[in-house]
Amino acid sequence: MKELIEELGIKIIEEKIKGKGYYLPDINCIVVNSDLKDEIKKEVILHELGHAAKTRNLDKKVIHSVGQAEEQANAFMIEETVKEYLTETEPEDFSTVRFLEQFGLPTSFEWLTKKIVSEKGLLRR
Ligand SMILES: [Zn+2]
Repeated sequence: MKELIEELGIKIIEEKIKGKGYYLPDINCIVVNSDLKDEIKKEVILHELGHAAKTRNLDKKVIHSVGQAEEQANAFMIEETVKEYLTETEPEDFSTVRFLEQFGLPTSFEWLTKKIVSEKGLLRR
């Protein structure tokens, strides 16, 4: 995650804010709620990094719906988190449910996680 932040040249700011976090494209900053638990902060930062990575490569003429942007940001967060999980878990021991539990992610991400794992071939050696 650190390399990614550096690669995108993003600044992370912790502040007392209403929501969990947001990305400010104009100044390339991610603002994360300082009251959140560390594991949630990480999840929020990854989600916002998804927006940041997408925004940078985004064709300005294409207007994405908010829903699509959110799903892409979540997909990015899940992909990075699965990769991290697989640094300590063998691919054959991978379980979507255990993965979500370990990272405190909602079970509503089960379908998206399975989709990403298969599409990106994350369990391939
Ligand atoms: Zn979002």
